[in-house]
Amino acid sequence: MSRFVYADNAATTPVSREVIEAMQPCFTDVWGNPSSQHAKGAEAKNMLDDARARIAAVFNCKPSEIYFTSCGTESDNWAIRGAAYRARAKGRTHIVTSAIEHHAVLHTCKALEKEGFTVTYVGVDEFGVVKLDELREAVTEKTAVVAIMYANNEVGTIEPIEEIANIAHAAGALMFTDAVQAVGNVDIDLEKLPVDMLSVSGHKIHAPKGIGLLYIRKGVVINNLIEGGGQEKRKRPGTENLPYIVGLAKALEVAKARLPELDRVRKMRDRLIDALTEIPYSRLNGHRTDRLAGNVNVGFEFIEGESMLLWLDIAGICVSTGSACSSESLEASHVLLAMGVPHEQAHGSVRISITHENTEEEIDYIIEQLPPIVERLRNMSPLWEDVVKNK
Ligand code: PLP
Repeated sequence: MSRFVYADNAATTPVSREVIEAMQPCFTDVWGNPSSQHAKGAEAKNMLDDARARIAAVFNCKPSEIYFTSCGTESDNWAIRGAAYRARAKGRTHIVTSAIEHHAVLHTCKALEKEGFTVTYVGVDEFGVVKLDELREAVTEKTAVVAIMYANNEVGTIEPIEEIANIAHAAGALMFTDAVQAVGNVDIDLEKLPVDMLSVSGHKIHAPKGIGLLYIRKGVVINNLIEGGGQEKRKRPGTENLPYIVGLAKALEVAKARLPELDRVRKMRDRLIDALTEIPYSRLNGHRTDRLAGNVNVGFEFIEGESMLLWLDIAGICVSTGSACSSESLEASHVLLAMGVPHEQAHGSVRISITHENTEEEIDYIIEQLPPIVERLRNMSPLWEDVVKNK
């Protein structure tokens, strides 16, 4: 009997039943344009307002601070570009980010360098934690925005965002955090967390692909990325994607309600980590405890992550080698390299990302299938032959 185990939830998640049910009325009944000045429009506008208010309740912020976008990538681009262009007029032409950000952030920063901004890419330690001393040195009165992710998408390390935000604010810079992977894993209270902007993506938390949001704290003003009509207070024009916005609201509510279940996910994660790091010449990538509940990233020497991925796929197990977005390039992960993982080891790493939907039995199956695959691949490797000979 063929098995199927989905353990690549950091890449994307299936849309949940609750989310599909919540969106359904938007396709059949509430299909009006929220900007229309008639009953059909008002009906849609009410649903839009309700979704925004429910999302604000999840994050303990004001509904007026939530701006809907098309995805996490757009939110990241908007936050950084919008803040940078706005601050340029005041002579702030510097951006601080980290070497392990998602490409939505890194490539935006690279593009801004071509437009005359300077960017400091702060390093991380061996566990993927941003070096605060380096960050403190980097942030100056020239810094427009500090962009550091809440949690890393490859190794799951959770960053000390509050401390980082305090450093940014001490120099008068804005603080933006990409929380795409953190949402659903961490209880985010925006009354307490001192960030100015925060990005979210729907498809990482069981809402559809193609919906995201950017939180912009009241009083913070950034430039628009696009121009158009009056939607989202003229800051992010385009007719609102009401079905997906309603789906995102439901997904966020469910994710928050399920936070207590993360203890069970953490136990499954740790069981996987313990079993896989028992394999000789393996290492855990990322922080042992300050990591996302469902993230396992283990490097195996003398093999290629891609070969492992293919064999696991044949066994019905879906995992990835790094972030889904960079996996096509076959380059070693920039995150692992920034953590000081040697090239050979970085190439032999796999990321297993689980959620509350995974079962203990599925974890058993991964633990049963993965070690023999490592052994088989190593037996085909001339480098491994040398290790065995020299023993
Ligand atoms: N930021 C992080 C940390 C991510 O993991 C991802 C997606 O993998 C993104 C941003 C981009 O989000 P989206 O796929 O919604 O554009």
